[in-house]
Amino acid sequence: MNDDASSEAGAAADEGFMARALALAERAAEAGEVPVGAVVVAGDGSVIGEGWNRPIADHDPTAHAEIVAVRDAARRRAAYRLPDATLYVTLEPCPMCVGALVHARVRRVVFGAADPKTGACGGALALHGHASHNHRLQVDGGVMADACGERLQRFFRARRAASRPAVRLVRLTPENAHGYEGVAVGEGQGAFVSDAPTLMRRHFREGYAEALYGIEAGGRPVGLMALVPPVQGVDYPGRRGDEAWLEGLRIDRRHQGRGVATRALRGIVAIAARRYRWLSLTVNLRNDKAEAAYRRFGFRDTGALYHGGPAGPQRILTLPLDTEDENGEGT
Ligand SMILES: [Zn+2]
Repeated sequence: MNDDASSEAGAAADEGFMARALALAERAAEAGEVPVGAVVVAGDGSVIGEGWNRPIADHDPTAHAEIVAVRDAARRRAAYRLPDATLYVTLEPCPMCVGALVHARVRRVVFGAADPKTGACGGALALHGHASHNHRLQVDGGVMADACGERLQRFFRARRAASRPAVRLVRLTPENAHGYEGVAVGEGQGAFVSDAPTLMRRHFREGYAEALYGIEAGGRPVGLMALVPPVQGVDYPGRRGDEAWLEGLRIDRRHQGRGVATRALRGIVAIAARRYRWLSLTVNLRNDKAEAAYRRFGFRDTGALYHGGPAGPQRILTLPLDTEDENGEGT
């Protein structure tokens, strides 16, 4: 075999063993552990050790996939050193695991996704070739990096989603609005919330709000907002006819920062999109944080200002409802 052919065969073999490590990572994910898998391959190409991440199940902070796989191989070999072995792991090893692999005298380490936060093979640290070690690991990273990294991202996305309370919009009536009286939404907003039924009755009497929505998180009232139809809406140069307004999106301060506002906004956008082509709102000129959040959602500055409120001039932001899917925030 010439060098090109042998390196191609080597790359194919690396991918085969990495695929096996990735399958073991799935075992970790099934058990609720961070999905990392590892295999130890002897010089003759036989698999002599397997492991997946299991510190939670084992009550063992050292039970990383690499450690589990190396222990498995060493036991099977009845040896404490594995000088012909290659370890395949789906994530760049941490300092503890690099230390264990050096102790085991493993010849080569092949990893999938790089770990810039805690990786010790060049990601955060470069311990594999450290001068103080009397053994140098040969390291090859980035084998099936996309598949390995995607598996981890999918796991963390699912875990974040599971830890967040379910958010539900409730169309309020005078009968069901009383649960929202205690929602603490911050300075200057007390009247809006503490008297939600009265506010709503006034809105309906004046034909102002199309609907007042309560925001529930985890089954509890945590916020309010109103959808305002175009007829009695705010007047400003260039305003559109088929445009609804979002008013008073307020989240109880004890429930802020948990993605509740974003999901409530997603819900009201879906409701508005059934009847309108645009959703607009006003933000205080000095409220950079709120403005940035709405812009991330896809709202754009119309260039017009609203002068009708007690808070002084407000910036008008608009979201085109027919393109909501393009900004990735569609429901
Ligand atoms: Zn580790």
